[in-house]
Amino acid sequence: MIDLRSDTVTKPSEEMRAAAAEAEVGDDVYGEDPTVNELESAAAEIVGMEAALYVPTGTMGNQIAARVHTDRGEEILVERESHIYKWELGGLAQHSALQVRTLDGGDRGIPTPEQVRDGYVEADAHRPGTGLLSLENTHNSKGGVAIAPEKIDAAAEAAHDLGIPVHLDGARVGNAAVALDVSPARIVENVDSVMFCLSKGLGAPVGSMLAGDEEFIAHARRVRKLLGGGMRQVGIVGGPGLLALENVSRLADDHENARLLAERLADVDGLSVQPPETNIVLVNTEHAGLTAEEFLELCADEDVIGSAFGTHVVRFCTHWNVDREDIKTAAERIRNAL
Ligand SMILES: *Cc1c(COP(=O)(O)O)cnc(C)c1O
Repeated sequence: MIDLRSDTVTKPSEEMRAAAAEAEVGDDVYGEDPTVNELESAAAEIVGMEAALYVPTGTMGNQIAARVHTDRGEEILVERESHIYKWELGGLAQHSALQVRTLDGGDRGIPTPEQVRDGYVEADAHRPGTGLLSLENTHNSKGGVAIAPEKIDAAAEAAHDLGIPVHLDGARVGNAAVALDVSPARIVENVDSVMFCLSKGLGAPVGSMLAGDEEFIAHARRVRKLLGGGMRQVGIVGGPGLLALENVSRLADDHENARLLAERLADVDGLSVQPPETNIVLVNTEHAGLTAEEFLELCADEDVIGSAFGTHVVRFCTHWNVDREDIKTAAERIRNAL
């Protein structure tokens, strides 16, 4: 089986398993887990922020950020296809009592400064006021597009001029950095907080990082506890997380594999393929006369699996447990499936 459903399906390496077994641990709720403390400092340094917090999932990291940055009843500006809005169970309403206002970020999922200004509402006797702008990079639903730092800067500057903070859902910010050949720190230079996942292309079994300034992280630590995310000897999974941080540069292999898969699939009659910028390949099946689900069933019969991303859109995701040969085989099997 070649599993291209997600970059979360990776199994930890022997090295990661050894790091888990050997990790020095303590009670992290008391701030006494040396492995987690090291992980949090290393993560903060990678994104050039004052502090970071280890959280069980990217979803929790995003939801904590929304909660910390806003007051109950405010509005949050999000891109209409963003993960924080579409795929987190309406958590913005449930955990933070926010009203969501969506912006259409177009093909690349990045709102313009004008859209930010138009979406902003000032608090008055009738209107709740805008509390936060949330951006996403790479943008998952748009096919893993890598948003240039200048675009993030422009949207963030518009928000800051209006007095509102900016969060970046950077679940795959490492992929964006590698694709654009800039540092993760440069991408988040002008936002107030960032979440990124250790459990996606970086290969850790568990965990995401939330980073920001000291005051933000101190508050985030309290909200993590509130949500039930205060963990104890969690260096056991933090150890592999530290190794994951060293994996950022190897994301280039995933990107190359995604390009190879896209090239091969573009030659298959009936499929149209969005040229990938990172590790996500979106394939449209409409001209093959198949829905995404029907196409995926045919692929599964040939031992290749992917995810349905729309009625006629399938997502294939490359990751460190599939190599170049696997990709060639997958492309051949998909051709046979059709
Ligand atoms: C996966 C993902 C998340 C959430 O991460 P989990 O660890 O699965 O909760 C958030 N944002 C984006 C863009 C993602 O792809």
